[in-house]
Amino acid sequence: MSLPKRTFDALVIGAGGGGLRAALQLADADLKVAVVSKVFPTRSHTVAAQGGINAALGNVSPDNWHWHMYDTIKGSDYLGDQDAIEFMCRAAAQTVRELEHFGLPFSRLDNGKIYQRTFGGQSTHFGQGQAVRACAAADRTGHAMLHTLYQQNIRAKTHFFDEFYALDLVKDEEGYVLGVVALEIETGEPLLIEARTTLLATGGAARIFRTSTNSLINTGDGLGMALRAGIPLQDMEFFQFHPTGIAGVGNLISEAARGEGGFLVNRHGERFMQRYAPATTDLASRDVVSRAILTEVRAGNGCGEQGDHVWLKLDHLGADKIKSRLPGIRDLARRFAHADPIDAPIPVFPTAHYMMGGIPSNRHGQVVAPTATGPEEAVPGLYAVGECACVSVHGANRLGGNSLLDIVVFGRAAGSHMLDYLRENPYPRPIPREATELALARLARWERGGQGESIPKIREAMRKVMEDHCGVFRSSAGLREGVDKMQVLRERFSRAVLHDQSKIFNTARIEALELENMLQTALASIVSASGRQESRGAHSQVDFPARDDKNWLKHSLYFLEGGRLDYKPVRLKPLTVESFPPVPRTY
Ligand SMILES: Cc1cc2nc3c(=O)[nH]c(=O)nc-3n(C[C@H](O)[C@H](O)[C@H](O)COP(=O)(O)OP(=O)(O)OC[C@H]3O[C@@H](n4cnc5c(N)ncnc54)[C@H](O)[C@@H]3O)c2cc1C
Repeated sequence: MSLPKRTFDALVIGAGGGGLRAALQLADADLKVAVVSKVFPTRSHTVAAQGGINAALGNVSPDNWHWHMYDTIKGSDYLGDQDAIEFMCRAAAQTVRELEHFGLPFSRLDNGKIYQRTFGGQSTHFGQGQAVRACAAADRTGHAMLHTLYQQNIRAKTHFFDEFYALDLVKDEEGYVLGVVALEIETGEPLLIEARTTLLATGGAARIFRTSTNSLINTGDGLGMALRAGIPLQDMEFFQFHPTGIAGVGNLISEAARGEGGFLVNRHGERFMQRYAPATTDLASRDVVSRAILTEVRAGNGCGEQGDHVWLKLDHLGADKIKSRLPGIRDLARRFAHADPIDAPIPVFPTAHYMMGGIPSNRHGQVVAPTATGPEEAVPGLYAVGECACVSVHGANRLGGNSLLDIVVFGRAAGSHMLDYLRENPYPRPIPREATELALARLARWERGGQGESIPKIREAMRKVMEDHCGVFRSSAGLREGVDKMQVLRERFSRAVLHDQSKIFNTARIEALELENMLQTALASIVSASGRQESRGAHSQVDFPARDDKNWLKHSLYFLEGGRLDYKPVRLKPLTVESFPPVPRTY
C-alpha cells in the first residue's frame, strides 16, 4: 500500500512540555519541524502539573545547584546517573529564567521575584536545612508552562499535526530512524511523516494502574513504539506512588499543599509522619510518605468508615492562603472529595503517579541501546525526552518539582543535539517499502469487528493485576503471580476484537492500539520488579527489605524479545564535582 507522505527536517512525537521545548529549539533555528499529538497540544498531560518546577534561585532563602544535586541523588536512592543530575541541576536556574522570558506567568514574591515554595526532599547545606526551591505559578504551573511553550511554537512556525496518533517508528536496515506512521484520528487515514531525526516525548504510563493521578491519555505509546523497534526499557520497576491522591478517586493533591504547611493525620489525629521521618516529617520523600500511609492504614489507624485512608489538613492555613496559593487544589477537593479544605480535611491515599523508568537516553536526549554485538550506542536519528525517557535523573524515586525541570532541560538539550545531527546528516535516507509494514499491520487488525475478548475487560483486568501485585509494597510470590496473570492477559489480547461491527469508530481502534502499548509497558514493569531482589526508592520488596548496593546498584533493561532482563551500571561520576557515594537514606 502506498501511503500519503509529508516530509520535515525534524519530527517530535508528543506536545507536552518536553516535546514543545525541543520543537521550539529546532523551529527557532528555521528548520521545518512537525509536532504530532494525539490530543490538542494544550491538553497534553503537562497541563495538569500543579506545584512547581525546581531551580535553586535562592529567592526566598539561600540555595545553590549543588545542594539540589545532592537532594536529587539522595531522593533517587542513589540509582540516578550523577552526570545527568549535575547537568540538570546546573541548568535549572537559567532554564527557569528562560521560561520567564518566554512569558510564563510565575507567581511573585512581594519584591517582584519569582515565588518559590517548599517541596519534599529538598534541603540546604547537603541535608542540613529546608530549601525553598519550587518555582510556582499558583498551583497551575504545568498549565502556565504548556500554554507558554505552545504560543512560542506558534510564533516560531512549528507545524502541528493535532489529533494524529503515532503508530510505529519507521527504520531502515542500518537502524536509522526516519519518521513515523501516524493515524489521523478524525478520518482514520494513515500518514507517513518522514524526517531525518525523530524525538519521542510521549509522556508517562501510570494509566496501567487502576488508581492513578494521570489522565486517560497516559498509555505508554512511546514505550511500545520503542520496544517494537528493538529498544529495551530501563528501570521499569520504579513507578512512583504519590502519597496524596484523593482517596478512592486518585486525583492528585499536590505536594504544594504540604509545602504550604499542610500535614497528614491518622484517625487519632496524630501527625504520624513525625514517627516515620523525624527530621522532615510531612516533607519526606514521596516513597517514604506513601509507605507510611499504607502502614498506618494496615495497622488500623486509617480514617473514615472503612479506615482506608488518612487525612490531609489545610484548615489551619486560613482561607486567604488557600484561595491565593492553592486555588486548584481547593477546587479538586471540593469537586472530587466533597471537602472544602478551608474547614475540612481531605481524605488521601497513595496513587500511581509517575514513571521513573523509560526509554534509555543520555543527557543530549539521544536514545542509547545495546547493539546486537556489543555495548550500547546511540540509535541514529532517534531521541527521547520527558516522562517516556530514562536519562536517568530520578533513579528509584523522583523528587516533586523535578519532572517539569527534567522535561524543559532535556527538551532543550535534545533540540540542540538534533540540530547538530541534522548538520551532520544533511540528506534524507530512502525509506524501504517494508519499513511501514508493522504499523499498517497493527492498524489493519482493528478494521473489522467480530466475536472475541473485549478490550475494556482486558484493560480493567490489567489495571487490577498491577494494583494487586505491583503496588507500594511488593513480594516475590505476588510478583511471580502477577507476571503469570499479565502473560495470560497478553494471550487474551491476541484474541481480542472490537465488538460492535456496525460502529467501529477510530476512538475504539485507538483504545485497542493503546491497550497493546499498556500491556507491553505493564509486563515490562512487573517483570523488571520481579527481577530486582532488593528494596530501593519506590520499589519496596518485603522479601528483600534492605537496599543492596553490592549487587543492585544497577539499572535494569527489559527487552520485548523473550521478555528478557539485563542490567547496566549506574553512572556514579558527575561531570565536574565530587561524586556522592551511596549512604543510608534517612529523612
Ligand atoms: C496531576 C499531576 C501533577 C503534577 N505536578 C507536577 C509538578 O508540580 N511538578 C513537576 O515537576 N511534575 C509534576 N508532575 C509530573 C509532570 O507533569 C509530568 O511528568 C510531565 O509534565 C510530563 O511531560 P512530557 O512532556 O514528558 O509528557 P506529556 O505532557 O504527558 O505529553 C505527552 C504528549 O505525547 C502525546 N502522545 C502520547 N502518545 C502519543 C501517540 N501515540 N501519538 C501522538 N501523540 C502521542 C500526547 O498527546 C502529549 O502531547 C505532575 C503529574 C501529574 C499527573
